[in-house]
Amino acid sequence: MKAFASQGDVSEKKATFAKLGEGAYAYTTEGDPNSGVIVGDDGVMVVDARATPSLARELVDAIRTVTDKPIRWVVLTHYHAVRVLGASAYGAEHVVASEATLDLIRERGAEDWASEVQRFPRLFRAAEAVPGLTWPTITFETRMTIRLGKREVQISHPGRGHTKGDTIVWLPEERVLYSGDLVEYGATPYAGDAYFGDWPSTLARLAALKPEKLVPGRGDALVTAEASLAAIEGTRRFVSELYEGVKRGRAAGHALKRVFDDVHRDLSPRYGRWVIFEHCLPFDVSRSYDEAGGIADPRIWTAERDLEMWRDLQSAPPS
Ligand SMILES: [Zn+2]
Repeated sequence: MKAFASQGDVSEKKATFAKLGEGAYAYTTEGDPNSGVIVGDDGVMVVDARATPSLARELVDAIRTVTDKPIRWVVLTHYHAVRVLGASAYGAEHVVASEATLDLIRERGAEDWASEVQRFPRLFRAAEAVPGLTWPTITFETRMTIRLGKREVQISHPGRGHTKGDTIVWLPEERVLYSGDLVEYGATPYAGDAYFGDWPSTLARLAALKPEKLVPGRGDALVTAEASLAAIEGTRRFVSELYEGVKRGRAAGHALKRVFDDVHRDLSPRYGRWVIFEHCLPFDVSRSYDEAGGIADPRIWTAERDLEMWRDLQSAPPS
């Protein structure tokens, strides 16, 4: 059986801290979860906090190479542990999230934490330093604007996709988009908590912004309008093809394992080289199979359910 989730992934990734525009930075990590940094007149905003305080301190060190202004804002693009549990290290005054993200932290934050630590041992090596769940201090329903001095930062929930509460950060003047896991580039979209029916139309709203630069949830930053749209479109294609395949299998009366094997076979040639493909696909097919069967909201993943599902799906297909 394949190693569970990312347990077989032990190779260190190299971080790149790149300037995309005046005061707008991407912190990308060769397919590990990315963060964004926005430097305003009076302080710094971090978009996605990283998995642990120790990983967060690496980002703080990078920020200190370009500014000594205080880190005042942390924005959470969604509730996943690998992006939120480092938040304490910034000493920020405000942690911003959507109402729907707060709901998810309340409802399943603890289960998700236990699950993700088990899925990503390399990222959570220093997990004992996490002081607890990350609680937003400011929430919004659909949108809010934060002014970092003269700079305007638009924060919004463009619809459901990767999770119920997905949030994007948009710099309207520079046309830089921080998409969180709604968009991936060269990395497989994780969709275990997704809304497959909604994700494509949410992505259409991102494309309509016409970003000139885009920091995806995972993968390199895109630094042209064409590349940004291509990343959005690549994510849409993966999500749509996967869901179509699952719906076809389910309509034919196939059980989950058979649907997984078929979808894995069909998607591997096009997407198998994207990072965390083998990790994500069982979760993605499990959730989309539920959604195709009318289960409106993703069922909560626990450390136990993770392993059970893996045993059921990642064993070799019958030959
Ligand atoms: Zn995520």
